[in-house]
Amino acid sequence: MKKLLLIEGDGIGPEVVGQTKKIIDFFTKNTDKKFETESALLGGIAYDQTGTPFPQETLKLATQADATLLGAVGGPKWESLEYKYRPERGLLGIRKELSLFANLRPAKVFNSLAESSTLKPEIVKGLDIMIVRELTGDLYFGEPRYVKTLQDGSRQGVNTMTYNSKEVERIAKVSFDLARVRNKKLCSVDKANVIETTEMWREVVTEIGSKDYPDVMLSHMYVDNASMQLVRNPKQFDVIVTGNMFGDILSDTASMLTGSLGMLPSASLGEKQKDGKQFALYEPVHGSAPDIAGKNIANPLATILSFSMMLRYSFGYIHEADMLDLAVENVLELGMRTSDIVGINQKPISCSQMGDCVLEQLIKLSNK
Ligand code: NAD
Repeated sequence: MKKLLLIEGDGIGPEVVGQTKKIIDFFTKNTDKKFETESALLGGIAYDQTGTPFPQETLKLATQADATLLGAVGGPKWESLEYKYRPERGLLGIRKELSLFANLRPAKVFNSLAESSTLKPEIVKGLDIMIVRELTGDLYFGEPRYVKTLQDGSRQGVNTMTYNSKEVERIAKVSFDLARVRNKKLCSVDKANVIETTEMWREVVTEIGSKDYPDVMLSHMYVDNASMQLVRNPKQFDVIVTGNMFGDILSDTASMLTGSLGMLPSASLGEKQKDGKQFALYEPVHGSAPDIAGKNIANPLATILSFSMMLRYSFGYIHEADMLDLAVENVLELGMRTSDIVGINQKPISCSQMGDCVLEQLIKLSNK
């Protein structure tokens, strides 16, 4: 029995997590993969009910769980709050407290949705790449960081790009391991020609590769070229690993190749402990979509696919993850679309209908 923490959060969070709960319950009732779920508050709703966007109780439950699934947090209601009370502080807080350093962002194009991309279908059809972004270092956390007024009256802003070799090593290992179970190709992205920190990054990744992963083909690319190649010929990549800032930008570019925010899952993983436990948070890439919240029209597939990532990466339930991915693919092949991915002459279905369609396909696949 695996212990899951479900955090619905704000906006469409409860709707998309609700549909995913149907899938979780399906596995528990019908397979030998069993899940026990608990709920916790995070974000705006947590602030409303407890006075903080990241209650201690949520942290406690997250550390006790085998994995956590999050909907989304945030919304206009909380935008004018003092910084420390904003919903996003809850999200950053849980990532930090669980030391989630590896952010996995797959960009997969389901063939029946290839037309939704802004790129030509032949460029993106069959695309299946994985971007691994380091999440706890780099310019976002490096010290010193400040903006100060100088003696001449002008202002100076300083942020620090910093990594130590241990941080690079652990993200490199996660990425090599992923490449090993995919197509055995890893591209490390840096700016080693002008930034010393990333020159060290390149050296460390190369060393790990030649020592421990001779079976994985390692290449290196400068970030400016990588951003170009991602839109020119994205299918050349399998796994890409990069630092926090470059990853922030490249993962958004890659996700847009797929055409819709409502289809994009993600995982954030912590370090493996000695007892084998590894904290992990799974969440859709999209936000709380306040403009459509409560209307039962959100696309739940990104959250359902995030649960599939949980099956695969936290529990090694590869067969079940493949089955769930196939159920989603079949639903799309059948022409089922929520309004964000609907094509001309197609009639959109609701969020809950989409959840039911995936469930129906799962039942069919598991009876085969
Ligand atoms: P958003 O992702 O919430 O929405 C952007 C657009 O995409 C909206 O038009 C929305 O309706 C649509 N959309 C998003 N998810 C969808 C889905 N599943 N199905 C159909 N359409 C979908 O981004 P935003 O509008 O910039 O932010 C809204 C709030 O969410 C803000 O408070 C922001 O801070 C927060 N946010 C949270 C997270 C998170 O929890 N991880 C991530 C991004 C933004």
